Amino acid sequence: MYVCGLTVYDHPHIGHGRMALVFDVLRRYLAFSGLDVHYVSNVTDIDDRIIERAAGEGRTEPEVAQEFEASWWRATDSLGVLRPDDTPHATAYVDDMVALVSDLVGRGVAYETSSGVYFEVEKVDSYGLLARQSLDSLRSGARVEVDAEKRSPLDFALWKKAKPGEPTWDSPFGPGRPGWHTECVVMSLDLLGDGFDLHGGAVDLIFPHHENERAQAVAQGRPFARHWVHNGWVMAGGEKMSKSLGNFTTIDEMLDVADPRAYRLLVLRSQYRSQIEVTPETIADAAKGLDRLDRMAQRFSVTEPLGLGTAALATADGRDVVAEEVDRFRARMDDDLDTPGALAWIFDAVNRAHSLGDAGDEEAAAALARTVAFLCGVLGLALDGGAVAEFDEATERLVTERDEARAAGDYGRSDAIRDQLVALGWTVEDGPNGTTLRR
Ligand SMILES: [Zn+2]
Repeated sequence: MYVCGLTVYDHPHIGHGRMALVFDVLRRYLAFSGLDVHYVSNVTDIDDRIIERAAGEGRTEPEVAQEFEASWWRATDSLGVLRPDDTPHATAYVDDMVALVSDLVGRGVAYETSSGVYFEVEKVDSYGLLARQSLDSLRSGARVEVDAEKRSPLDFALWKKAKPGEPTWDSPFGPGRPGWHTECVVMSLDLLGDGFDLHGGAVDLIFPHHENERAQAVAQGRPFARHWVHNGWVMAGGEKMSKSLGNFTTIDEMLDVADPRAYRLLVLRSQYRSQIEVTPETIADAAKGLDRLDRMAQRFSVTEPLGLGTAALATADGRDVVAEEVDRFRARMDDDLDTPGALAWIFDAVNRAHSLGDAGDEEAAAALARTVAFLCGVLGLALDGGAVAEFDEATERLVTERDEARAAGDYGRSDAIRDQLVALGWTVEDGPNGTTLRR
């Protein structure tokens, strides 16, 4: 699978974080399903915005690109996203891109102007397939063209001729740099081959970016991606995301106050194509769900971080899990990656594990809890089974006193002891077996 990565000119925002999480889960799930996944995601390290920022800050383009690429990997690592197998960089593929542009000119589907080389979209019959629009309707919706040399406003730049002060590469069309749409078609076909399985990215890339990638492959007679997956947008209360509004803009800012697992859970609560609302409230609500999962893991002592880590992608082989529960999870996920459905099942299983535990069937409860933890691992969620808390004698005595007070109906005394325990740094919970403490 090939997923359009970032243009590295700024710190990644939470929308980029959602994209990374959606495709991380898809990749993990495909691996869990027994497929051998080769995951490629590119880094666009030359672009107008990188050039602008470098000029504005008196730095070089590579300095800017390296800073924000590092920021991107730091952020996705923090979110628990597995690194792609390959992360091709645009600047390392310029020769191949020049070769593609030359080939397209030779085939008569691209033409040179004074500003660059353009792809002529009318030469591709199926242009508009991904946008689900005809060429006519795309044309009428296009902005009025200011470049009189372009044959259609929809024609896009394969090669941009150098302007003064810009970084350049040599080509048969003079010095310049490749267009963004050419980058992805060259790198995906090079690393994954013709007719690769799956191409992803955010929904705003469908048109024109993905349409234009595809058009170049079609013009060369090469089978391109067989399936397309696009994730929806991130909204913040219908408002512009900004720190002053208490919303989150960058992934770093969000992770200053939120558990990265809570953001993953929030993303997975919605189908990948729908829009999601990210506000302090929705993150807090996801954190509550996460807490339910952790508490189940703690109650039934599920401490092994099942199926997690960068080295091992999870499979059910040889796991001590309940097979029919795994099948139910799989049925939801096989239905267009229905993560909300899969999570609904998971939380139902959490309730059932507690009920079994309350009824004294510890063995069945623990098996269900292990299965939940394993499937959370498939989704990239590591549960915090916690180390068993060590109490000192004084704390132990308070717990005993509190349970006795509750049993005797002395709730004033029981509440007073609760306050004492909270002051000592404990979270106090009441269960069927009495007081439970967590750090
Ligand atoms: Zn792309």
